[in-house]
Amino acid sequence: MSTLEIRDLQVSVKLPEGELKPILAGVTLTVRAGETHAIMGPNGSGKSTLAYSLAGHPKYEVTGGSVTLDGEDVLAMSVDERARAGLFLAMQYPVEVPGVSVANFLRTAKTAIDGEAPKLRTWGNELRGAMEKLQMDPAFAQRNVNEGFSGGEKKRHEIVQMELLKPKIAILDETDSGLDIDALRIVSGGIERVREAGQTGLLLITHYTRILRYVRPDFVHVFVGGRIVEEGGRELADKLEDKGYERYLAGAGPAA
Ligand code: ADP
Ligand code: MG
Ligand code: MG
Repeated sequence: MSTLEIRDLQVSVKLPEGELKPILAGVTLTVRAGETHAIMGPNGSGKSTLAYSLAGHPKYEVTGGSVTLDGEDVLAMSVDERARAGLFLAMQYPVEVPGVSVANFLRTAKTAIDGEAPKLRTWGNELRGAMEKLQMDPAFAQRNVNEGFSGGEKKRHEIVQMELLKPKIAILDETDSGLDIDALRIVSGGIERVREAGQTGLLLITHYTRILRYVRPDFVHVFVGGRIVEEGGRELADKLEDKGYERYLAGAGPAA
């Protein structure tokens, strides 16, 4: 079973003038396949910075700490290598990929990650099945990735990717944001299927507690000012729903 180990991770964002602005102030977290972790924190606390730096986004510079996946140094890997190693990131704001259809994109991604093209005979069914489960019209297979997709359609497409790619560790950055109640249920259903399959470690990054009514986390980490300030089981999410983040903010750093 896979383990992602984040140790004292410190990350700065690269500003246009070349300066570094420190955001993550030492994050330590272990995610094992089959576990579901929720990272919850207010806006601007550095949650997306954590997600992007795990995925290897060039805008972020790691200034300290380590990240390993089954003992392999993730920080030494390129973005592609991270994906092939089994890391998956669903972005808060999924990007358009002009000129590339959903069907081609997913097939290319699957080929890159498995090291061989999926069997033509079964792939079509697999793709259709995955899209159907997320209640995506089959016509989306021929549309360009995220071009003109609504917020909810982008998020469903991210979950289709996750179900098809079967990552070892999946980081979902505010996959619940901007979804109406029906879309939230559909998207949560996909996350729940991946959770139940037990092969993937899930890191659900969220601002709201509502997704956690559908996908129950094993661990909750409260994230404020670029670091984890409290940890607990799922009961901590209920406490946050009642009390909010207010009480953590007094002691938080400038990022909050
Ligand atoms: P969250 O996802 O928790 O809302 P982010 O990781 O997006 O937080 O942002 C954390 C902090 O980093 C915020 O204060 C944000 O303004 C800052 N930040 C992120 N990207 C940049 C950037 N490109 N330039 C300047 N500040 C940035
Ligand atoms: Mg934000
Ligand atoms: Mg964010």
